Amino acid sequence: MCLKIEYKKIQEECGIFGGYAFCGHIAPYIKCALLKLQHRGQESAGICCGDEVQNLYKDFGLVNSVFKDYEISNLKGAFGIGHVRYSTFRDDRKENIQPLKIRYMGEDVSLAHNGNVSQAAHIREKFEKIGEVFLSASDSEVILKRIVFSLKKKPSEWTYDEVAKCINDNFSLGSYCIVIFTKNRIMAFRDPWGYRPLMLAKTAQGYFVASEDVAFWGLDVEEIVEIQPGCSVEITSGGVEYKTFDTTKKHKKCVFEQIYFASAASNIFSKNVYQTRVCLGELLAQCEDSDFCADVVVPVMDSGLGCAIGYAQKSGMPFHLGLVRNSWAERSFIQPEQKNRKNNVLQKFMPIKSVVEGKRVVLVDDSLVRGTTSSHIIKILKNAGAREVHMRSVSPKILNTCIWGVDIPTKEELICHGISDSKIAEKIGADSVKFLPLDMMKEVFEGDNWCLECFLEDRG
Ligand code: SF4
Repeated sequence: MCLKIEYKKIQEECGIFGGYAFCGHIAPYIKCALLKLQHRGQESAGICCGDEVQNLYKDFGLVNSVFKDYEISNLKGAFGIGHVRYSTFRDDRKENIQPLKIRYMGEDVSLAHNGNVSQAAHIREKFEKIGEVFLSASDSEVILKRIVFSLKKKPSEWTYDEVAKCINDNFSLGSYCIVIFTKNRIMAFRDPWGYRPLMLAKTAQGYFVASEDVAFWGLDVEEIVEIQPGCSVEITSGGVEYKTFDTTKKHKKCVFEQIYFASAASNIFSKNVYQTRVCLGELLAQCEDSDFCADVVVPVMDSGLGCAIGYAQKSGMPFHLGLVRNSWAERSFIQPEQKNRKNNVLQKFMPIKSVVEGKRVVLVDDSLVRGTTSSHIIKILKNAGAREVHMRSVSPKILNTCIWGVDIPTKEELICHGISDSKIAEKIGADSVKFLPLDMMKEVFEGDNWCLECFLEDRG
């Protein structure tokens, strides 16, 4: 399951959290963490807490609307996992919200994941042919049932090695992070390719894992560690054990975690997200023709902010917020209908007329996918009186889909597919467009352990 718009863009990954709270009540910590991971999924939220018996509460909506004080105080227990979700399909079935919980041999066990578990559909089909019934369309249920079927014993008796082997044997092609909650124990796994981030924190309040380290903000942190690809942790009241289950794969960190998905405050793959975006913006400014000149640099909030600051710093052009983002508008990717998405862009962005009126504007964003968001924003700026709008993307042209779980549309829907820059500008109503060349992006994402596949016309 994944996530983002076009009406804004591509879909990002869900957010996961899990751990053990020393005070015996983890639910408030999970809620706080999910709020900080809300940008990774806004369709639904779920928390499963307990010790021996697990209590699950989940619903559609934002974290704050799903979990009021009443729900949090009723979610008892020192151990727990949580999830915020965006799904790639229109989904109104509560059963599909994560975490998924089942009862097996008299014990509760629950699981949540993000990313793409590519073999799940095949395994589901195989199970159904032998009469297994699934209550949800979620891949979490497939993973959970695959483990149950392989181990055939009480979840409290599952050893770490058995669970790791089962996941790795059956889902070796996946790009996933998984948290599993069995009696008084949390296990967390990051896939051997390392497409998605997974972080561990040892704090004065407990031991926690999360999709991004921003989720630990506010805790008294003693140590934060990035769980490496093919590695995992097992958390009990006795402490944290860091383990390795597969180090044979070449790492493929998703650059969009840095460019777009993650919070600017997070440190993903050992790089601060905000600093990366500033750096990309600076490089983009260096690509401009020497005679290019504009009056103001305006970011597309939020992920374009750092990029625009970097661009303005390097180019010497003034930086201003020419657009305000309405934080209270729902993010448009959670509105699948085209008409709703358009309305959502209009609700979400408001121009500051005094900044853009009569000005030549450089509009800086993290990427262009279908171009629909950009085209609406350009229209908003021009309606507010902007004389020219020059669109700038700190990502190279997106030319391919993603087979690793990010919901990029088909090649034919991608604005950059098969047309020139001038045609792209014409389609989105810009006076010019420019993209950071892939070679320059590689100055920021050095080495060969980054995934850049969606920028390649052919994957090879
Ligand atoms: S293809 Fe693109 S979106 Fe997909 S994992 Fe690679 S970099 Fe990320």
